[in-house]
Amino acid sequence: MVSLSRFGRREIPGALELFCNVEIDNRSEEFAFRIFAESSVLARISPQPAAFVLAFLIPAMERGEDIFVDASLDHAFLHRLQTYAISMLASKNSAFKKIDVHAAGTHHVKASSINLGAMTGMSCGVDSLRTLMVYGPDGENVPDKYRLKWLSVFDVGAFHDSELQFHPALDRAKSVAERSGCQAIGVSAQMQQYYSQEFAKSCTVRNVAAAMCLTDITDTYLVSSTYPWNVIGADKRAPTAMEAVDPILLPLLSHDGLEMFSACANEGRHNKVLEIIDRSPFVHEIDMCTRAVVKRDYRINCGTCQKCADFLLAAELIGKLDYVAHRFDMEAFNRRRFRIYQRIVTDTVIMRWTYPNLARPLDIEKSLKVPFGSIFLGSFAAYCILVTRWIKTLFKKRPPRGKPQTVPLSRLQAAVNKVPKPDQIS
Ligand SMILES: [Zn+2]
Repeated sequence: MVSLSRFGRREIPGALELFCNVEIDNRSEEFAFRIFAESSVLARISPQPAAFVLAFLIPAMERGEDIFVDASLDHAFLHRLQTYAISMLASKNSAFKKIDVHAAGTHHVKASSINLGAMTGMSCGVDSLRTLMVYGPDGENVPDKYRLKWLSVFDVGAFHDSELQFHPALDRAKSVAERSGCQAIGVSAQMQQYYSQEFAKSCTVRNVAAAMCLTDITDTYLVSSTYPWNVIGADKRAPTAMEAVDPILLPLLSHDGLEMFSACANEGRHNKVLEIIDRSPFVHEIDMCTRAVVKRDYRINCGTCQKCADFLLAAELIGKLDYVAHRFDMEAFNRRRFRIYQRIVTDTVIMRWTYPNLARPLDIEKSLKVPFGSIFLGSFAAYCILVTRWIKTLFKKRPPRGKPQTVPLSRLQAAVNKVPKPDQIS
């Protein structure tokens, strides 16, 4: 059993803490979300028990233990969580077991009578910059409810070193917020110790937990989606990252006080990259690489990982490589260009066999004039990998083969006839 009780808030220098007592793994301890914003904003924020439920939802499902909340939850939120979200997450990941969530009571969270504006996470990656382009203060034809007022940075497990990375990321979000007419806000919570699996397998629920803390200051939370519609799903062919179910999961975790949806899920990554390079005023802030290096006294993207290489090759395709070059380690990119092409060919061939919907369009390689050597070596490597995978599947334990058992129709009919009719039941 995971038990959550004694919810409260306290102000500390430069931040606000929303806390509760959690009983988990036979320990009883305090868990807190720390929120960083202007003091006038912090004054409006109150503890949201639903945020704590979401923070401990996956840890409880990993342990197969019910959650008990000593507080009232929004009735619709609890219903959708209990009936749909938990079973969908259990279908997505076999390590998550179905559990129950018990609340001390239920109520109805009403939507705010004034427009509080929308919020999105601002990592300065491709997806978040695209969401800012579409839903920012300059976005065209955007309903007021979905127009961005807040740019958030959530430190809930994405940063490898949260001490070193969270505050610089928040400062950069503040700079983008000031220039785009928004406000920045940061939320930090030490969740990692309760989770067994890597961040990508629970990222959506963790980020939504942090967003739920901010129900008092926002109406809508736009999650910048990574995956396009054609790979969304909870079955085995979909990508294993939790983001692959964002468009299904987010409405199930919403309530009238905070609507959440998957923003720009209608666009593929290649389209987003081209739009950002071509039109975003924040393209010079691009920070998309987990292997970023420090050069010329500031952090730049590595230039050689798959994300960086895709971005730079797209920039080259539309003749804007020089325009974005200062944000990347171009020396490494140019030095390893042959290998990069080779890896693109390998990835593309593998993707076409495994996730055809996520594979790059063929015309990209044609436009890039990939050298024959890269095509040959890249394809050879891909087919070696695919054949090795296929051989491995042959040695996997399979259920015994045999003809599926069929029952003759006459036997089925006889079995149905044996069922007593209602008037025969005494
Ligand atoms: Zn990189």
